[in-house]
Parts: sequence; C-alpha cells; structure tokens
Amino acid sequence: MPDKISVQNAKRYLKQQQELGETELVLKRAQAKPPVQENTRSAAPNTSLDYYRRQIEKCQKCSLGKTRIKFVFGDGDPNSKLVFVGEAPGSDEDEQGLPFVGRAGQLLTKIIEAINFKRSQVYICNILKCRPPDNRNPLPAEIELCEPYLIKQLEIIKPAVICTLGTFASQTLLKTDIPISKLRGKIHYYQNIKLVPTFHPAALLRNPAWKRDTWEDVKLVRQIYDQEVKNGR
Ligand code: SF4
Repeated sequence: MPDKISVQNAKRYLKQQQELGETELVLKRAQAKPPVQENTRSAAPNTSLDYYRRQIEKCQKCSLGKTRIKFVFGDGDPNSKLVFVGEAPGSDEDEQGLPFVGRAGQLLTKIIEAINFKRSQVYICNILKCRPPDNRNPLPAEIELCEPYLIKQLEIIKPAVICTLGTFASQTLLKTDIPISKLRGKIHYYQNIKLVPTFHPAALLRNPAWKRDTWEDVKLVRQIYDQEVKNGR
C-alpha cells in the first residue's frame, strides 16, 4: 500500500485488493524516506578547490599579475569528471573574473551543450589565470610559472577526461610541440587521465571550417566520458 493516500483512494485501493482476493492487509509504520537528491555531485562544494583558489588568487609571480583586472581561476562543477582547459583570459574574462564568457565562451557553451551537458556540469579553466595584454600569446616563462596552479587544480578535481582547447593548452599538458592540427582527433594521456585536444573556440570563430573536426573531437570526449563514468571513474 502506498505510504500516504487520501481516504477516497484508500477505499478504492481496499476494494481493489478485495477483488483481487486479499483477505487481510499488513499495515506498516510509515518510514521517513531519504530526500531524493538530484545531481548531488555538482551541488557539493569542493572545499579543497575553493581553499586553493583563495591561496593563489593574489599571485604576482609574473608581470600579468600587475596588469590584470581580475584573477580567473576557473568555473563550473568543481567535482565534474570533465574539464575543459583553454589558454588564458581575454578582456571579458578579465573584467568578470570568469573563464570563457566572451564570444569564444558563448561558442564553447554551445559546443558543450551539443554533447548534452549543461555548462554548469563541467569545469572550465585556463593555463594562465591572468590576461596577457592585448590578448597576445602566453610567453613560455608565464606558462612555466602558472602551470603548477593548473596541475594542482586537476589534482583536486580528478577528472576522468580532459579536453584541451587549442595549441597552448594541448602542448603544455602533453609536453609536446606537435601542432594542434596533428594532436586533435586522438586520445592522449595526461598522467593517467584521457585527454582529447581540439581547436580553441576563438580559432573556430576565425576558421568556421574547423567546426566539423571540433564536432568529431567533442563527440569523442562525450564517448570517453560515458565509458569512464560507466567504469566508475
Ligand atoms: S598569470 Fe599565473 S603566474 Fe602570472 S601572476 Fe597570474 S596567476 Fe600568477
């Protein structure tokens, strides 16, 4: 018998049971059911990651610390099994303190949604946490100084899959100088984590013809994610 029904429905239920041949009913004391928790992983704060951000957000290790407006640590579900890693904040990101919020960010959101995730279900961050002036490329020394922060973030989040966006993120995590056009489309490994490189969304805005390849790459990301989660990672 359901835990809680109206008197009217109770009468109907008892009649049905009688018609089905039941002669007696066992009455159970109602037990409190645990509340249904939807998507508990994304709701749970990752205190280690928050703590780590607070430890480094005033960083001045390189000159970008002096020119930034805001430090851009990362955004999304800190417990996600999927992490996107880009290059560096641009002007919108610098103003808002969040990664991928400009035009390229809007395209990234569409890409994420195309593989049936909400943006809030994944984690997004960059190699550099501060904006290079005039959106110039990150310098090797800046990458070297900032990379340990990303490594620590990944250590805390423990993703099952990483998708690197563009040359700098891919080459930095894979320790290679192979161009992105040759790295993409395949599964690589960062430590023991599967990593799929693809084009940076800003590059897609300049070269829409690369969208087809990117679509193939992110489908691969989704496939790996499903497999890894199924295997309990
Ligand atoms: S870019 Fe990285 S290393 Fe340079 S100041 Fe910002 S947080 Fe520090």
